[in-house]
Amino acid sequence: MHDETRVSGQQDRSAGLTARLANVLAGGMGSGGRYEHRDLVIAKGKGAHVEDANGKRYIDYMLAFGPLILGHAPRVLSEAVAQSLETGIMFGAACESELLLAEEVVSSFPCVDKVRFTNSGTEAVQSALRLARAYTGRDKILKFEGHFHGWADNIFISVKPVAHMGLASHPKAVLMTPGQPKSVIDDIVIATWNDFPGIEQIMSRHGSEIAAIILEPCPTNNGFLEVAPGFLEKLRALASAYGSVLIFDEVVSGFRMALGGGQELYATVPDLCTFGKAFAGGLPIAGFGGRDDIMSLLVDNAVSHLGTYNSGALSCAGALAVLRELKRDDQAVLKHIHRLGKELIGGFNQVFQETGAPLCAAGPGAVVSVYGSPTVPKTYRDVLSHNKELLARIHRALLHRGVWSFARGTFMISAAHDEDDIQETIQMMKRVLTEDINGAG
Ligand code: PMP
Repeated sequence: MHDETRVSGQQDRSAGLTARLANVLAGGMGSGGRYEHRDLVIAKGKGAHVEDANGKRYIDYMLAFGPLILGHAPRVLSEAVAQSLETGIMFGAACESELLLAEEVVSSFPCVDKVRFTNSGTEAVQSALRLARAYTGRDKILKFEGHFHGWADNIFISVKPVAHMGLASHPKAVLMTPGQPKSVIDDIVIATWNDFPGIEQIMSRHGSEIAAIILEPCPTNNGFLEVAPGFLEKLRALASAYGSVLIFDEVVSGFRMALGGGQELYATVPDLCTFGKAFAGGLPIAGFGGRDDIMSLLVDNAVSHLGTYNSGALSCAGALAVLRELKRDDQAVLKHIHRLGKELIGGFNQVFQETGAPLCAAGPGAVVSVYGSPTVPKTYRDVLSHNKELLARIHRALLHRGVWSFARGTFMISAAHDEDDIQETIQMMKRVLTEDINGAG
């Protein structure tokens, strides 16, 4: 990954740091999600670019797995954080920036009457699931195969391919890591995205036990998968009919696909939603919110939601600055992001056509997916049958050429990317396919 053409063994500071990291950090990484770029050590980031410890520059489409919607070190965020450093970073009590942030969230998401903040998307999902269970007095959760809702034991289920995952038509709940108690799968029912008749069947059997139906309205965690027209509306009606709480996990889609996420895009209002990532431009704050009667269970701690770091003043002030920037000038930032994303998709598809590479690109713009097949997949199982090996080789080759994307072929766009970044990336994709990857066509 380090550019051997520029960095001799003596000067390879990244390699030296990587070796030292492996001595003291388990697996040499801070999170298992960083495996594919585990030998990348970043020194600094500004705008749409990062520089590694060797001084090599990359156009960054990882954006720290999505949060950096304004790019690296944006002025509005730096100023808000700097001010908070002067006036106190957390109090374990309410503060004005928490109030202003909550008001912004309530006005952004159609489903949110009341909100609470957490430190990560994983915690937000846990809180929403607990509320749904408390509200319904039921235990079971219906989730979709391939949808990711954080890494907690009770929901890190059927996210990645493993043996014994069942037929495509009848996917099974499968654990994702040693260490998860086997009992957690007893409370999970797995459904297939866009298969409404299948879900009707599941609900007719288990509906009275299902506390919540949880989903990513714009699934991106295995490549972007479009929702079938009418699917969310039908799910909405079904959840209501069975008295189950409908939860949209908007951790990726919220404040990126649209300010109000999938619920705004698809005009379908869930009972609860979770959000994070782009919401705070990289600061460790996320949240959950929804209907007043469900959120009211938190009043007087009837249902517990705790956390030393919840609603920290620094994170609230930073997230508030990010949201104000996203809302400014009739949402100019999101328009810019979507426009550049569409340009990247068009450019990539042209390159794939010219080179005959068996690939295609699609997505809503703010997220761009390159798929390991010539046609856009409809289901998670379609994605699994794709040429992952080719995508992985392209990822490595692009990284070598200074373009940093997700290994699965996802590119996230920020406010800081510009036309030059997009054009350079399209050119790099062409060079990777024509010069680096043998037999791609
Ligand atoms: N939900 C979704 C849809 C996500 O994509 C993620 C993270 N990729 C999470 C929840 C978990 O968020 P976090 O990493 O902040 O815990």
